[in-house]
Amino acid sequence: MQNLFEIDEWKIIETKFDATRQEQAESIFSIGNGSFGQRANFEEDYSGKTLQGSYVGGVYYPDKTRVGWWKNGYPEYFAKVLNACNWTGIRIEIDGESLDLAKAEIKQFYRELDMQNGLLIRKFRCILSNGKEVEVHSMRFCSMHNEEIAAIKYSVTPVNFSGNIKFNIYLDGNVKNSDANYDEFFWLEDTQRVGIKKGVVSARTKKTNFLVATAMRFSFWRNDELLDIHPNCSQKSLYVENNFEHYLEKGNTYTIKKYVSITSTINHSEFDTVAEAINNVTAAYTGGFDKLINAHKHAWAEIWKHADIKIEGDVSAQQAIRFNVFQLFQTYTGKNPKLNIGPKGFTGEKYGGATYWDTEAYCIPFYLKTAPTEVSRQLLMYRYNQLDKAIENAEKLGFKNGAALYPMVTMNGEECHNEWEITFEEIHRNGAIAFAIFNYLRHTNDWEYVNEFGRPVVFGIARFWSQRFNWSKDKEKYVMLGVTGPNEYENNVNNNWYTNYIAKWCLEFALMLNDKNSNASHPLNEEETKLFKEISSNVYFPIIEGTSIFLQQDGFLDKHLQLASEIPNNERPINQHWSWDRILRSPFIKQADVLQGIYLFEDHFNEKQIEDNFNYYEPMTVHESSLSPCIHSILAAKIKKEEKAYELYLRTSRLDLDDYNKEVAEGLHITSMAGTWMSIVEGMAGIRVNENQLKVDPILPNQWKSYRFNIYFKQQPLHFEVSKTTLKITNIGQQAVQVAYKNEGFELNPNTEKVFMIH
Ligand code: BGC
Repeated sequence: MQNLFEIDEWKIIETKFDATRQEQAESIFSIGNGSFGQRANFEEDYSGKTLQGSYVGGVYYPDKTRVGWWKNGYPEYFAKVLNACNWTGIRIEIDGESLDLAKAEIKQFYRELDMQNGLLIRKFRCILSNGKEVEVHSMRFCSMHNEEIAAIKYSVTPVNFSGNIKFNIYLDGNVKNSDANYDEFFWLEDTQRVGIKKGVVSARTKKTNFLVATAMRFSFWRNDELLDIHPNCSQKSLYVENNFEHYLEKGNTYTIKKYVSITSTINHSEFDTVAEAINNVTAAYTGGFDKLINAHKHAWAEIWKHADIKIEGDVSAQQAIRFNVFQLFQTYTGKNPKLNIGPKGFTGEKYGGATYWDTEAYCIPFYLKTAPTEVSRQLLMYRYNQLDKAIENAEKLGFKNGAALYPMVTMNGEECHNEWEITFEEIHRNGAIAFAIFNYLRHTNDWEYVNEFGRPVVFGIARFWSQRFNWSKDKEKYVMLGVTGPNEYENNVNNNWYTNYIAKWCLEFALMLNDKNSNASHPLNEEETKLFKEISSNVYFPIIEGTSIFLQQDGFLDKHLQLASEIPNNERPINQHWSWDRILRSPFIKQADVLQGIYLFEDHFNEKQIEDNFNYYEPMTVHESSLSPCIHSILAAKIKKEEKAYELYLRTSRLDLDDYNKEVAEGLHITSMAGTWMSIVEGMAGIRVNENQLKVDPILPNQWKSYRFNIYFKQQPLHFEVSKTTLKITNIGQQAVQVAYKNEGFELNPNTEKVFMIH
């Protein structure tokens, strides 16, 4: 695997422009602030291949679905995150020729994502076909301090001439989604207004009626001197511009400072949205660039203070983990209860920017340990707020009495995925949502939340499972037919071990919550508790007789069993080379399935069971979902297969940076980035959390000298340092916590540390 970008601890760097990789780079160098995000499209014109992308959190369009064979219960639409107004535009024209890196001769090119400070930086020198040479520096950021603000500093230096250059600073809302099902334009014009050095464009989404306003202001400088300019203002539908021509002296640097504010009816009333964008941008402009950037850097410093992982001795691994943590916080900050985490965040259109089980299974564990409790609570509340819709969804499929089936894909609680084998059958997602509540509880002990908001969700989910299992006379057990497990390379199977396991666990969890607080409102009724007990103690689980291996599903052993290593390299990934029929009949596993269950419920199994199942399934797994290698890495570390754990860690952490699955051009795999973080904290460091205690049992990959990180446990920040010989744990919080190294438990008081010799 070759590194596509240079290796650096805090930066992603590209030193040569390669037009064939521009779309990949646009994904990798994306910036965002949890509220909106922007692919690394150039500010100036670019006529080469590019995927323009500017996305605003929570704003979507219900694109009418395209399915050949309609099935009852299918949703009418697939929610698309909307490609919104292009706010970065700065067009440069020299002697009638537009500055365009697809056409100019590039002498130097440098692009950097500064992850410490959240900045996208670009420097290049090029010669236009008219012989004019210019040097350009640009820097931009989406403010982490003020989530409705972005800013760009764009400097041009004429290298071999003095002469007129035309600048056009614009906002362009004429943007189409590249994956629109019917090539439809999703926006309706609202207003556009333009004035001297300012403008605003607002647009409304068709059908969903979100209003999004984008306002800009700018100033123009020669070196450090503010210049007085008199731009021409013009506007047309969804577009405003300020253009002006200026005489540039050779060797001097001319800078546009462009301030932008993006607001929407997600956060503001209809009446205020446009005015807020204008007010915000005016305040940003008045305060000036330095003030904005300092506040932005400060906000990042605060995040890194707690969320950074420092790896000594392996720059590639260091860069990768920071890239993952950086992209996660760019996608979700927990400030807004209406937002969630799309698998591609703000870096691409695929997966619609919508919510999947990824949030509960992968992202919540990350935010539980790296951010204050409120952040994960927001994510849980999101599902609580959509419980009614989950009940409606289950009703549509014939379930009753408050059974809830959360959607596979959603923007507002409604299902918007329609491939029958996923929409109707990949129901294990329901389990992940209940498990996240349990996980939240064991990290925080926040019973207040769980009693009020967690219980109804878990009860609804448990009711669904109780109706989805059926009694098999033949097996004399409860079975679950026609499901798709996490491994989507198997469809419509019976008794997927993982789904049966998590479903049984949900029933037990519901009973536990019900018993725990008999005074809480809406308890389970007697009939329900009886049924849940009856089912949960009689679930059927397929196994390979005479072994401790859990069988992925009924009939798995009928397959022609082969190892993934037998697939020729030029046929990988198989989902890009094989027919679907061949994939389905093969034994190859897209992503952790049985192992996903062993990962979640590790303490239900002994070492031998974990090891045997890992050794059986890992060699058949092709890891063609980004969500897979991290889980395998954690289990490999658990069974002390250190090399394997490291190999899989690199695969998960550098998945996008090195484009393992050859799809990064479409956007980054944001949700699996949380898995990367888990593979260090839970994998390498062996951290496990239970109701009373945090356990640690670290390994250190040979390639690393040491690693260090902080996590929250029971709302207290703890610091961990692992070196070749020692493990150091420091309580930097205010209250004592219970910790155990291997099986040696102790109380760790505030401001104390404990050091263990490890071998
Ligand atoms: C995976 C799912 C996942 C989805 C979004 C699919 O490829 O198989 O488990 O939820 O991607 O990340």
